[in-house]
Amino acid sequence: MFSLAGRHALVTGANTGLGQAIAVGLARAGADIIVAGRSRPDETGEAVRALGRRFHAISADLGRIEDLPRVAEEAHAAFGHVDILVNNAGIIRRADSLDFSLEDWDAVMDVNLKSVFFLSQAIARQWVADNRGGKIINIASMLSFQGGIRVPSYTASKSGLAGLTRLLACEWAGRGINVNAIAPGYFATNNTEALRADEGRNCDILARIPAGRWGDPSDLAGAAVFLASSAADYMHGAIVPVDGGWLAR
Ligand code: NAP
Repeated sequence: MFSLAGRHALVTGANTGLGQAIAVGLARAGADIIVAGRSRPDETGEAVRALGRRFHAISADLGRIEDLPRVAEEAHAAFGHVDILVNNAGIIRRADSLDFSLEDWDAVMDVNLKSVFFLSQAIARQWVADNRGGKIINIASMLSFQGGIRVPSYTASKSGLAGLTRLLACEWAGRGINVNAIAPGYFATNNTEALRADEGRNCDILARIPAGRWGDPSDLAGAAVFLASSAADYMHGAIVPVDGGWLAR
């Protein structure tokens, strides 16, 4: 039920952090892996190949919307078709809202929201043309549910991503396409380096996590495998928290 043998997964931003852990987790469940991103994914490629799975890397700046049709075409050509799309790539910019710049607003919205929609559209068009379904998994955030602080464009993008997940689920469920999201809590990656380096914020965050620790990227892989598998065929528009209990507080 949870096997991904014979499936082909496209994961964005998989050279590091959560995307890398998701790519390796999907490979461990049997999927061949295509990654798209701007940094070399050598470590991820080694881990995927060591599991006996195929690996293909596409070089792309996902903030450039005009590049997305090429990414979708290259992903399709890599192994014949794509079955699973994980929209993981994301950035964060921190500043007081009184000072927040247009550049920091647009950069975050472009990568975290606009490119997710247009890459999903490009892949879904392939599925419709090929008369096959597929799975889309968006990487949301606690800030899909909560306000946060000093991250206005990030909160707007991740709250928007929750809405987009539900909208696409409604539009595409009837076409055999499952659109869901995972909302990670606080994970130790580059994205949260500034928070972990700030002793006060680090203590406040840890005090609120019932599990009592930051998430390790590998903690996310199981939820991704589940949503990518046929076990989740009747799941549409869910936003699944993997957060050590953060939202339960
Ligand atoms: P990360 O270590 O900073 O990884 C982000 C990934 O996105 C990297 O592969 C990065 O590539 C890629 N990326 C960023 N901008 C890109 C662009 N313009 N084009 C192509 N690739 C781009 O952060 P992470 O924590 O693993 O974050 C992964 C996702 O999880 C993000 O969507 C983030 O918002 C979300 N998330 C993280 C946490 C957490 O606690 N860590 C919590 C909630 C949600 P480069 O290495 O080239 O920059």
